[in-house]
Amino acid sequence: MKWSGLNRTRKGYAGELLDVDAFLADIASIPSLRPEWELHWLSDTDTGVSIPVLTSGEWKSGGLYLSAGIHGDEPASPLAALKFLREFPLPPDFSCLAFPLINPTGMRLGTRDNDRGSDLNREFNNPRSWEVKAVLSILEQCGRFDQAVFLHEDWEAQGFYLYQLHRQGDACGRGAALLDWFRSQTNPSIPIDESPVIDERDNDRGLIDTAFEEHLDRPEWPEAFFLNAHHTDITYTLESPSDLDLPSRVEILSTALAFLIES
Ligand SMILES: [Zn+2]
Repeated sequence: MKWSGLNRTRKGYAGELLDVDAFLADIASIPSLRPEWELHWLSDTDTGVSIPVLTSGEWKSGGLYLSAGIHGDEPASPLAALKFLREFPLPPDFSCLAFPLINPTGMRLGTRDNDRGSDLNREFNNPRSWEVKAVLSILEQCGRFDQAVFLHEDWEAQGFYLYQLHRQGDACGRGAALLDWFRSQTNPSIPIDESPVIDERDNDRGLIDTAFEEHLDRPEWPEAFFLNAHHTDITYTLESPSDLDLPSRVEILSTALAFLIES
């Protein structure tokens, strides 16, 4: 694993960008490689830009909700989703609703926001962008998932960390087990961000664990809050440190995702 140090100098993501056309071609090939996945496209009628959505099993309830690529300066996120869709052996009767690239225009530009300057991960309680409305149009058809996982990156992070959001009084969750397992890995060892505070939240050696009810007054909801409010009891927002080399970040996110599904 190699650290570039460039993000700190630039005070933002300074690494390589995603080749969005190649990525979408790879997504389009998934059903022929893995017939358990069905692929649909959600399109913006004004621009023709499309978001892929993949489903497996009884995807409308139970199983996993997976989201990636909602911030365009986090290319390891969609690449980890692609690795999961291509390679992960699905357990029998596994259900999944997966959005591997929610922000294709931002991903082309390498910006957190979409091409119209909206942070898509801040409008789930008040949708304005077509991308968020498209995701919600699918979620409208859904019941409750066993868990929801959101793949992200953080250019400031010193290592991997995650947000675990659950119901008040319900302290379950496998975030701590995931971090323990990561700490036991030595070849290569996985860096964990143990800063005491991250984004003004208490960080317990890589785990930012909070009850959803503590955030109800937050004005701009990220996707995780919407899922916690309506579709699941537990969500995990995984953050890889985007100052690391891209293959390592993809590996960290996809390995963490596999752990949460298998454990
Ligand atoms: Zn993000």
